[in-house]
Amino acid sequence: MVSFVTGAYILAALLFILALAGLSKHETARRGNAFGMAGMALAVVATLLLVLDYLTDDLIVDKTPIVVGLVIILVAGTVGAVIGIRLARGVEMTGMPELIAMMHSFVGLAAVLVGYNTFIEVASAHSNVGLESDAVHNAEVFIGVFIGAVTFTGSIVANLKLSARMRSAPIALPGRHLLNLGILVVSAVLLVWFMLTDGWVGMAPLAVMTVLALVLGFHLVAAIGGGDMPVVVSMLNSYSGWAAAAAGFMLGNDLLIITGALVGSSGAILSYIMCKAMNRSFVSVIAGGFGSDGAVSGEARDYGEHREIQADDVADLLAHASSVVITPGYGMAVAQAQYPVAEMTKKLRDKGVDVRFGIHPVAGRLPGHMNVLLAEARVPYDIVLEMDEVNDDFPDTDVVLVIGANDTVNPAALEEPGSPIAGMPVLEVWNAREVIVFKRSMATGYAGVQNPLFFKDNTQMLFGDAKDKVNEIVAALG
Ligand code: NDP
Repeated sequence: MVSFVTGAYILAALLFILALAGLSKHETARRGNAFGMAGMALAVVATLLLVLDYLTDDLIVDKTPIVVGLVIILVAGTVGAVIGIRLARGVEMTGMPELIAMMHSFVGLAAVLVGYNTFIEVASAHSNVGLESDAVHNAEVFIGVFIGAVTFTGSIVANLKLSARMRSAPIALPGRHLLNLGILVVSAVLLVWFMLTDGWVGMAPLAVMTVLALVLGFHLVAAIGGGDMPVVVSMLNSYSGWAAAAAGFMLGNDLLIITGALVGSSGAILSYIMCKAMNRSFVSVIAGGFGSDGAVSGEARDYGEHREIQADDVADLLAHASSVVITPGYGMAVAQAQYPVAEMTKKLRDKGVDVRFGIHPVAGRLPGHMNVLLAEARVPYDIVLEMDEVNDDFPDTDVVLVIGANDTVNPAALEEPGSPIAGMPVLEVWNAREVIVFKRSMATGYAGVQNPLFFKDNTQMLFGDAKDKVNEIVAALG
């Protein structure tokens, strides 16, 4: 049975690798998801079989703890599955980022609990039968609890910021880098103490470090401004993977180690890609330094007057254009405007207009958010381009439709060095002949910065819910 379970674990690990490979492209993303689900189902079944195997093992005399463990696994698994299915079915696409952040916090909490459980087991064995604890194992427990605690509070703050229950502006304490460094140094000293102790004495350094790590997680993420949150989300994704891998080491579970390492490293690669997209330094991100050092909001400048346009006039403009680029943002997700946008695209393409999409890497609230929405509405993949593929084409574009995007098309990122989004590459839509911005008001985007694009001579605002407005344009196009 054990060799069967080992085989199943290896197969599950391969399925997880195939899942990641599949998820890296639009065309194969569904298949990737299916591989991931199959891998997880196999891992769960194999683990249950392993427990059943212990039950039939004649060498184990007292089977009560195994039966209790099995009952707990089944009850907790059922309760977890019911809650998970309810949450996943009910969540709006706009609520996904905070849901994911909350799930990362669970992984962090699990690593902390597994760490304490392992510590308590070893400490009781020490006081009952005088078992010496092993320094390497102690280090595994300590590091696992540390990563788990940072992930736990960091993810809770991310959840609060993404759901707008905490302000997205950075909370920049004076000397915050020193505080982070101090916590790291003290934790390293506590690690050495913990490694050299035996039995219950270790509880003191472990508990002090846990409190410090919880503070560090909170502080690292609270200090990040709205515009840099995508990097935080992918970093926490990576941390949650390392927390799971640490739990795998503590439990001696190879599959958990492999899966955790896969999530940890793919999250780290995603963070690197996000850093490049946001023009932030990867090292500074890992150190919790991030781009906006204390910059809280943009300058309150007077950009002049904005101009408005109505849906019928936009339809007229589009019908006479030969090239159109659509740059969607978070507002398209809020309005669920992707379906009418797909319909409008089809109508325009049928009329011979060249329509393409320009996707900023951090548009929306999740990596790949816009791609998912457009794929859902069956927009052809070959007209959905990345920012770098489309940015040089704007001077030759007749009309750009900015649908619910704001920070990702904000020229302040290039023109205003003091801005919290300064240095972030953006879609340079203002270089097109005409720019139409779909939004409900003159409100700022997620980073809380005013957008000079709205006041440019070639920009016109189409106010209202993006879905309603695109529907009006579809109707006017006939
Ligand atoms: P923004 O969040 O900057 O702006 C969205 C705009 O949509 C708002 O200005 C809002 O204006 C408008 N809007 C909202 N609802 C509607 C509606 N129903 N109809 C029409 N318009 C609407 O969007 P971007 O996508 O341009 O930028 C994403 C931001 O989120 C960046 O700052 C990014 O760093 C951050 N972020 C991204 C993550 C990611 O992984 N992609 C994760 C976390 C944060 P109004 O209220 O006036 O309608």
